[in-house]
Amino acid sequence: MKTWRQAPIPSLPGKSGKIRLWDSASQDMAELPEAPQQSLYVCGITPYDATHLGHAATYVAFDLLNRVWRDAGSTVVYVQNTTDVDDPLLERADATGVDWRTLAKQQIELFQTDMEALNVLAPDHYIGAVESIPWIVPEVERLLEDGLAYQLAGAEGEPDGDVYYDVTEATRRADSPEAWRLGTVSHMTVAEMIEVFGERGGDPERPGKHSPLDPILWREARLGEPHWDGGNLGRGRPGWHIECTVIAQRFLPAPFTVQGGGSDLAFPHHEMGAGHAWSLHHVPLAEHFAHTGMVGLNGQKMSKSLGNLVLVSRLRAAGEEPQAIRLAILANHYRSDWEWTAELFASSKARLARWREAVPQAPRGSAELLLTEIREALADDLDAPRALAAVDKWADDAVAARAGEAADGELVAAAVDALLGVRL
Ligand code: ZN
Repeated sequence: MKTWRQAPIPSLPGKSGKIRLWDSASQDMAELPEAPQQSLYVCGITPYDATHLGHAATYVAFDLLNRVWRDAGSTVVYVQNTTDVDDPLLERADATGVDWRTLAKQQIELFQTDMEALNVLAPDHYIGAVESIPWIVPEVERLLEDGLAYQLAGAEGEPDGDVYYDVTEATRRADSPEAWRLGTVSHMTVAEMIEVFGERGGDPERPGKHSPLDPILWREARLGEPHWDGGNLGRGRPGWHIECTVIAQRFLPAPFTVQGGGSDLAFPHHEMGAGHAWSLHHVPLAEHFAHTGMVGLNGQKMSKSLGNLVLVSRLRAAGEEPQAIRLAILANHYRSDWEWTAELFASSKARLARWREAVPQAPRGSAELLLTEIREALADDLDAPRALAAVDKWADDAVAARAGEAADGELVAAAVDALLGVRL
């Protein structure tokens, strides 16, 4: 699938040093190894209701990692999927009377336009669920052959043959410290898992499953639902976790460096994906797992189910500048839960204006220290608020100095663009 266009990254003197990143699977600060090539997988959207600020915050957060890695001299292979067939997409298409393919196509285009506007670097591979089906089917067949998956007999009105991953059997076979077992990624108790599984696309109540937490790998065709050739599995469509696992393992090294996503993906999505990867290839899915906080509005989590979404496209349509939206996101540490408020957005617009005012007055010799401060802040678990505070301080000093010369303006603008992704 085509990806979006990305603006060139300005080159900077010097480079970023070692990067520390909070690893939510090891529950510890990880020192990422300095390597010529880094690899990143960030879970993509299911294309409906794109792109709310929760989405945008996640992609901007991992965009910082992508930028700091590049600044440190590494090349980065970045993969993102888009779940262009899944229950919520089909439900929305049904409810609105739009063909699901048309809905997915429109929403993917909208999402990509938003990403481009927010200056998020494009993935090297942007892969849809539908195009991945021929790669997914043999992997599900293999899990069945290996006894790590099973098929259910259909109850009333259900076809036979839905395939589920057996988390209990996979955990029982864990034979080394690095082997996946249920809880490796999320560290949740089984009771906590069961509580959220149903809210996050799982079906804990379905009768006949070996464990309520077993996730679906292949869903047999139902009347009125799209379906594809599944070889020995019969016609149907894939589950969400196996989609990401197969795409990641096809396009990235095993394990790849960082798996990213919102904190609500730690379980079940990344947990199960890591399980599938270990069961299939006896490798961890990723070396590190990183999760972004949730974005709220008026005291509630911004979510499709609550219908309280602030959409990037709507802000843009209202004439708001994408760079100010990006700055509002960056004003919050990526791991914290935060609220979108009118005050936050107003202060971000004022900050952008202040920085722009300062650039033509940048005193000679002021950029070098600022560049170091931005690099150090971002290398320390992507501490964007600290980086923003450094630019604020620099801007205040530049404006106060009234140097009237733009001696260092070009370098400051390049640093803010290359590292923070904000164009001044
Ligand atoms: Zn995913």
